[in-house]
Amino acid sequence: MSLSFPSGAVCSALILSLACQTTSSCDKVGGSARATGVDADRAWAHLEAQVAFGPRPSGSAEIEACRKYLEAELKAIGFTPQRQSFKDKTPVGEIEFTNLWAEIPGTDPKQGWIVMGSHYDTKRMPFRFVGANDAASSTALLLEVAREIHKGPRSPFTYRFVFFDGEEATLPEWAGQDNTYGSRHHAAELKRVGDHTLIRAFVLLDMVGDKDLRLTRDSYSDRRLIDCFFGAARKLGLGAHVDGKALEIRDDHLSFMAIGVPSIDLIDFEYGPHNSYWHTADDVVANCSKASLAIAGQIVMGGLVELEALLR
Ligand SMILES: [Zn+2]
Repeated sequence: MSLSFPSGAVCSALILSLACQTTSSCDKVGGSARATGVDADRAWAHLEAQVAFGPRPSGSAEIEACRKYLEAELKAIGFTPQRQSFKDKTPVGEIEFTNLWAEIPGTDPKQGWIVMGSHYDTKRMPFRFVGANDAASSTALLLEVAREIHKGPRSPFTYRFVFFDGEEATLPEWAGQDNTYGSRHHAAELKRVGDHTLIRAFVLLDMVGDKDLRLTRDSYSDRRLIDCFFGAARKLGLGAHVDGKALEIRDDHLSFMAIGVPSIDLIDFEYGPHNSYWHTADDVVANCSKASLAIAGQIVMGGLVELEALLR
């Protein structure tokens, strides 16, 4: 992901509203018996396992090993993960990308879908970049969120969990179309078959393992979705971990905003002093924490209850 330039194009999604008008408010928590957090030990083990594969840039043998790990974990939970492979031209040549996705059908087809995502590729760098936070942390958390929602109780909403390939730019700088390859392809395919109209919200996780966790207030993200997740955090006594710096974050959520889906990026874009660990050799396990994954898990699970109440 990257920061937008202040003069960046006005994003049309800023004026999107949620597809369904409702009198429900984010302040009303539904009576869900779903888990209120995730198993942080498991999430931490997923983070360490991904880092152990080494750098995992798109098209590498290491990302394929990581993909197989994610597939095995999803199958162990009870999912039937799907591969979505495609080739795209990049500034460093053609690359075959592969998204992974899995879903849980909702009990009420009329309620539509909630899509959640994380990228699992790491940025190709001239040094050993293992991406413990970017993006092993969010990928680990998404697996565990998927586990908890799979455990039930069944939601009226269909949940789709997507692990994106190719979020990172192949060149050092984020420019043009050299980024978000996987999410753009997934969103384009949803639109091609007409399923994009079923998606009520897209929730992106990225960089959630920072020891000093404080989620950024991303200017592109839908205000009502921010209220759901940040409001849930405040109710849980976790207000110190949200409402970070207001920044324009360019990330996989823009791919879903482009197909008309209200979206949020749950990201802490302040990794180390002045974000100095981001995209550096300091993005290592030692600079992440299991406690942060636990906190992020609570915020996500709490926020989803608020989100479902808002959408119903
Ligand atoms: Zn990155």
